[in-house]
Amino acid sequence: MYILECWIEHPVRTLDHTFTYLSDVQVSPGCRVSVDFNHHELVGFVETVEESNLSKAEIEKQRGMEIRMVNAVIDEEPLITNELHDLALMMKKTTLSTTISCFQCILPPKIRPSSSAKHIVMERYVRISENEVNLTPKQLQAYMLVKEKGEMRYGDLRKAYPTLAKKMVDSGALVAFEKEKEAPSTIHEVRDVPPVLSTAQKEVLTKIETADSRAVLLRGVTGSGKTEIYLQLAAKELNENKQVLILVPEIALTPQMIDRVTRRFGEELAIYHSGLNSQEKYEQYVKVKSGRARIVVGTRSAVFLPFSDLGLIVMDEEHDGSYKQDKQPSYHCRDVALWRSEYHHARLLLGSATPSLDSYARALKGVYTLVELDERINQSLPKIIAVDMKREMERGNTVLSGLLKEKIADRLQKHEKVILLLNRRGYNSALYCRSCGEAIMCPHCELSMSYHRSIGRLKCHFCGTEMKVPFKCPSCGSTAGFTGTGYGTERLEKEVQELYPCAKIYRMDADTVSRKNAHEKILRQFMADGDILLGTQMIAKGLDFPEVTLVGILAADSGLERSDFHSCEETFDLLMQASGRSGRAAKKGDVIFQVFDTGHYAVQCALRQDYRTFFKMEMDFRHRCMYPPYTYLVSLLVQGKDEKRVREAALWLKNGLVGNYKTIGVIVLLKRRDLFRARIILKGRDLDEMRKDISTLLEQDDKRRANMLVIDVNPMVLDG
Ligand code: ADP
Ligand code: ZN
Ligand code: ZN
Repeated sequence: MYILECWIEHPVRTLDHTFTYLSDVQVSPGCRVSVDFNHHELVGFVETVEESNLSKAEIEKQRGMEIRMVNAVIDEEPLITNELHDLALMMKKTTLSTTISCFQCILPPKIRPSSSAKHIVMERYVRISENEVNLTPKQLQAYMLVKEKGEMRYGDLRKAYPTLAKKMVDSGALVAFEKEKEAPSTIHEVRDVPPVLSTAQKEVLTKIETADSRAVLLRGVTGSGKTEIYLQLAAKELNENKQVLILVPEIALTPQMIDRVTRRFGEELAIYHSGLNSQEKYEQYVKVKSGRARIVVGTRSAVFLPFSDLGLIVMDEEHDGSYKQDKQPSYHCRDVALWRSEYHHARLLLGSATPSLDSYARALKGVYTLVELDERINQSLPKIIAVDMKREMERGNTVLSGLLKEKIADRLQKHEKVILLLNRRGYNSALYCRSCGEAIMCPHCELSMSYHRSIGRLKCHFCGTEMKVPFKCPSCGSTAGFTGTGYGTERLEKEVQELYPCAKIYRMDADTVSRKNAHEKILRQFMADGDILLGTQMIAKGLDFPEVTLVGILAADSGLERSDFHSCEETFDLLMQASGRSGRAAKKGDVIFQVFDTGHYAVQCALRQDYRTFFKMEMDFRHRCMYPPYTYLVSLLVQGKDEKRVREAALWLKNGLVGNYKTIGVIVLLKRRDLFRARIILKGRDLDEMRKDISTLLEQDDKRRANMLVIDVNPMVLDG
């Protein structure tokens, strides 16, 4: 008999310990089993296995309790390596999440310890049999083809020999068998020659290679050749038979990085991002696990792939908010990358034009080695102008300023490309009743719904609810109709098209990239024949289009209206990143910021592309208010259907969490997805103390309040 200790797939915090089950077949730790739990069939994840000579009855007697048998063993081989097992336990501790949620987060959806995991797709293959079978000359040809390949997809054989494939399997000349479907190959035939590094790049490369610390922070202005450095470092690791992981923040950036990597290395590459379905994710996972691919390009969750011998992790645009998961486990990809690089004795290279305050402060303290590139490869930074939109409004220019219109016309005439950025999608951000003036609200969230003209519907950008524009006002019942306010990318597209009827415009935002590979297609089309690319922040980051010589950022300082401690940093990053899209090649570029507050330091520093001054001023602000990186924050969000219970739980947290830190709250938040919400924020210098107090309090939870709780350690957004 085998005695198993299993984590049960169950989000309940109070059940975050292992449960004992028995199995009469052997199981390894790290395998899934199917178990009965409270009259439900659930998936368990085996933590430890102990072999015993005793019978079930004897074990039960010894332990003084009834112990159930597992219903079935799901996996033959462990799904997880020792490293990933320990990583899950580290995440549980640092993010205050349940253990099972960490395992679920680490494993790809198809093999996650969860009953919702779907089957892995199998494919039919054939190989030659040992049988002696008489073959026609044509059949012999097919037979030799299979023999030469060892095995081949049945589908491929049928394509080559449509009438023979089935017959040959039936006659026993070929044996059919099932195998897991494999990822297609990504190998590129053409390989480019690496450029000779500039003197500045060479110096940086040497410093990175000889750095004492595990992690190196590379701050380099946009277009300074950071990616080239990543590639050259990667080449060295691959030469030494090590694996390389390149993380990018945004799915929109993967095609470009993939292209550069495949062209450079001419070897198999694994790709991992949220645009893949669960089967594709699994196939990419197998590519890494089996060693078929040694280099990976991916977004946040690629950091969990089963590497066996990593030599380098690159985290491009390391400051980007999408590296942080906001639901539990609320891990930061950087922390996981750092942990894994320690485990593998690999280098971690953090790259950005605008490092997070956190990382730059650590680099100045010497925790990371700091290397910097202040010049663009083409030696020319774009010319940046801030336009005061208050004045423009007086002149009747509500969307595009006079200057931006002029410059767009100029570029169209010269056949150069333009990028316009507006960080809001849809047509109108709200529709107001002409009679009572109320906005149409989402039925599930306390948020106004955006109008999407192309589909003629209202959408909630938070929960995704869609509906027709109502005939009557939901508030007063009037049929007077609605007026739209607020610009989104859809309206911008329409107006820009009206202004420049001959321009070829492409729009990229969450609405246009929802279909598979849509982002890749839009970018390719824009490269080929586009004049203007307009879209939300997803076009601000990292894209390298040599022909773009004008970037216009609309409502460039709208982020500053938010009350979040992070909003200045985010606005500055966005302005710097977007500026970086202009004038990257031979032709000089222009950038226009359309802002309401031209004097704000985030705008002023971005105008001068001056990271260091921004860093100083923002650090001053954070110091005055004792915000991170001078302190740590923990957000405790309580949400539930019952308002009273939510308030009660929030108060319980507030009163129970008292220590050498500030307990801020109860902050009552707007309703989202039909849930009442309230937040408590802890702010202090000793993160471990705050974590410990939270854990201790949750252990005393006798009313299942913790089940309404979402904990975010080091949150990046607090006004959501
Ligand atoms: P970043 O990642 O800092 O934005 P990139 O590595 O993309 O910069 O480099 C900007 C541009 O300069 C790219 O088009 C790249 O191909 C080119 N480039 C980079 N390094 C060199 C070099 N040493 N010689 C010539 N071109 C280079
Ligand atoms: Zn009304
Ligand atoms: Zn909603």
